[in-house]
Amino acid sequence: MTQNLRIAVQKSGRLSEDSLNLFKECGIKFDNGAGKLKATSSNFPAEFLFLRDDDIPGYVEDGVADIGIVGQNVHVESNKNVSEVKLLGFSKCRLSIAIPRSDAYNGIEDLEGKDIATSYPIILGNYLKDNGVTSHIHEISGSVEIAPSIGLAHAVCDIVSSGGTLLSNGLKEVEVIFRSEAIMIGCPTMSAEKQDILKQILFRIDAVQRAKN
Ligand code: ATP
Ligand code: ZN
Repeated sequence: MTQNLRIAVQKSGRLSEDSLNLFKECGIKFDNGAGKLKATSSNFPAEFLFLRDDDIPGYVEDGVADIGIVGQNVHVESNKNVSEVKLLGFSKCRLSIAIPRSDAYNGIEDLEGKDIATSYPIILGNYLKDNGVTSHIHEISGSVEIAPSIGLAHAVCDIVSSGGTLLSNGLKEVEVIFRSEAIMIGCPTMSAEKQDILKQILFRIDAVQRAKN
């Protein structure tokens, strides 16, 4: 019996549509009807798991999924033992530090000793360390942008795509600390048979991309 390659994609969010299209454009058929958590392809040895993006690196590390698609931000922050299979070029965004618009800013050293709220303590911690700055990192899981206005922090570090959310919360972007796009990650201990299925998918992705250019 052939094994199916198990592919983890975001259930609903900014990665979902492009992730599903990537496989559909490769001619892999599956039904991702609303509310489904799992789907098996009707014409290719693959099955899809629809998950929250934050859970994907852990599932791939454990081999519950063989490959997955997440933002590089989530991949790096998760710090899991997975292989980086392929950069995918969509869901581009950046991770930036922002401060209240009326505050002066002369450089990263201005953040010395300050409180910074973020959902990315690892990426932010590395950046501050590389720049020789010590700040207090407050990890919060959402609505990071309101932290300064409620007195929780002096600054925030969050995902920015257009800057609209920062502006409407009275913040200005002062440092870009990380640039991200979608990445395919893989389990380092995949069976040879599954590696072979993955190779076929990568071959098809390359063909689709060549046809587009
Ligand atoms: P989930 O419910 O799966 O946990 P989420 O709310 O954490 O979803 P999304 O907002 O859907 O995640 O973003 C998924 C990924 O898309 C981000 O981790 C990031 O890599 C990328 N992304 C691209 N543009 C943006 C943006 N404007 N805001 C947030 N993330 C973005
Ligand atoms: Zn998430």
